[in-house]
Amino acid sequence: MVPKLRIAVVGGGIGGLAAALALTRKGHEVRVYEQAPELREAGVGMHLGPNGSRLLERWGLGERLRALGVRPAGMEVRDWSHGGTLVRQPMGEEWLAEFGAPYYTIHRADLHTMLAESLPSGTVRAGHRLERFTETGGGVRLEFADGSTAGADVLIGADGAHSVVRRTLAGPDTAVFSGQSAFRGVVARDQVPGLPGDTLLVWAGPDARMLVYPVRGGRFLTFVAVVPDPRWRLESWSAPGDLDELAARFDGWNTDVKSLVAAVRESRRWALYDREPLARWSAGAVTLLGDAAHPMLPHHGQGVSQAVEDAAVLAHCLDAPTGPDPSASVSAAAAASAPAAAAASAPAARRAIAAALDAYEGVRRPHTTRVQLGSRGGGSQRLRPDEDGTESTGTMSSLVEDVSWIQRHDAEAGLPPLPPP
Ligand code: FAD
Repeated sequence: MVPKLRIAVVGGGIGGLAAALALTRKGHEVRVYEQAPELREAGVGMHLGPNGSRLLERWGLGERLRALGVRPAGMEVRDWSHGGTLVRQPMGEEWLAEFGAPYYTIHRADLHTMLAESLPSGTVRAGHRLERFTETGGGVRLEFADGSTAGADVLIGADGAHSVVRRTLAGPDTAVFSGQSAFRGVVARDQVPGLPGDTLLVWAGPDARMLVYPVRGGRFLTFVAVVPDPRWRLESWSAPGDLDELAARFDGWNTDVKSLVAAVRESRRWALYDREPLARWSAGAVTLLGDAAHPMLPHHGQGVSQAVEDAAVLAHCLDAPTGPDPSASVSAAAAASAPAAAAASAPAARRAIAAALDAYEGVRRPHTTRVQLGSRGGGSQRLRPDEDGTESTGTMSSLVEDVSWIQRHDAEAGLPPLPPP
């Protein structure tokens, strides 16, 4: 296949790899530049909502998702002090019928490997930390920390919450601290036989919340313990969490939580930050995707799915129109893809690329802004014990309502026709 555009994706996280897959499927020549010396296992479990899984299934990853992810049968809110079940929300076939695709919990390393293995060999260039880029008449020039350079027709900044590409496009911003941090880790389920391997569990106490969900076929449980702490401000995926402090925070809780905490051998601690939504995230031949574009708090469990949705819309906008209006024949995307193979540097092709990236941002930014702002007060934060220590079903239904519109969304459906160049 003749490559259409040469696309540089900076950042080989979930968003960057998903973008590379979606763009490669459209016939573009994609290179992913990742700062880490190699693509390595990192992180713990994460959520992949139906809005993300339906896209990965369409891209041919359904079988691997079923093999590596867990489809939780339900979500349970349990009492923090005596441990009894307060509310249960079924999530299996019911969720599938409601949202049209499965809900998965999956280890980040498994999803990352699955995406990396789906790319043509040589796509990912590890050990490339982007330092700066410049737009030239002939495209974009990337400069890396090791002194090497690369050129591309389009640059996608998928370089995470501390994005260099975002800083260059939109200027410096201030991370907004939530006042909370999360201890995260993985425990083998046979260490805590009292806990189920097929259920999302939440215990919401007066001063902390514990969330537990299965990964790796239910053989392991991911825990996320969210605690208020104005002093812990390290926005890092790798900072160690102190196990004595974790145990002290959950002293006095029910025996299931205490045995879980006692089984933890290693934990990371992650201060929870987001950023204000950006007013713009594309300029010329450069745009942003995933956490670089819309870093959000984890309470809706949407970091991965929103990045996958971005990838789908971006690939559409850089391709010939496949949206609801096929009569929009002279679309920006069509112009961006066809002539660009020969001369992406021609002014008309450059304008068409910019229009395609504008169209992508125009579709995605209002949606991700809603998710980003909604995450601030949503999810398990809604669950608080009543004065008598119980949790009401009303709170659970508002929690589900908060995420329903997000999980029902099909990012590839109803894409508007793209503007003419
Ligand atoms: P990220 O996943 O943050 O990926 C960004 C990538 O860009 C990283 O690989 C980074 O090394 C690379 N990068 C950054 N700057 C540069 C540069 N200048 N040049 C080249 N490459 C660069 N979320 C969870 O819910 N649970 C977890 O356990 C979890 N663990 C994580 C562990 C790590 C190491 C990372 C990086 C992220 C983790 N996340 C986790 C976040 C989650 O992956 C994202 O919120 C979501 O998947 C969106 O991904 P993203 O690709 O936009 O950003």
